[in-house]
Amino acid sequence: MSQRKSRRRFWTTFVLGSALLGALAVYGFPHCVASEKLSRIHQGMTRDEVVRLLGPPVSARRCSGRRTEIGYGKPARYCSVDVFLDSTGQVTGVFHDH
Ligand SMILES: [Zn+2]
Repeated sequence: MSQRKSRRRFWTTFVLGSALLGALAVYGFPHCVASEKLSRIHQGMTRDEVVRLLGPPVSARRCSGRRTEIGYGKPARYCSVDVFLDSTGQVTGVFHDH
């Protein structure tokens, strides 16, 4: 009797858990960063503000003229986000390839 009960609980947890993960993968994070957070990145923000919002970047590249480009991405996901910073460390643009 008790074994049947725990089996049922296992399947209920399994199904609910899979559905939740699936929904999260499809709707919550269709991009490598949450699009809701990405939409809050705007010109003039500092790198610290970007990192606070999106988390630490997976890549950072120095460009000519002391500009910096920080990139976000997830393995096995066709989505990359690059944030461009000028020599004073302020956001000049965002490039989103998806
Ligand atoms: Zn994307």
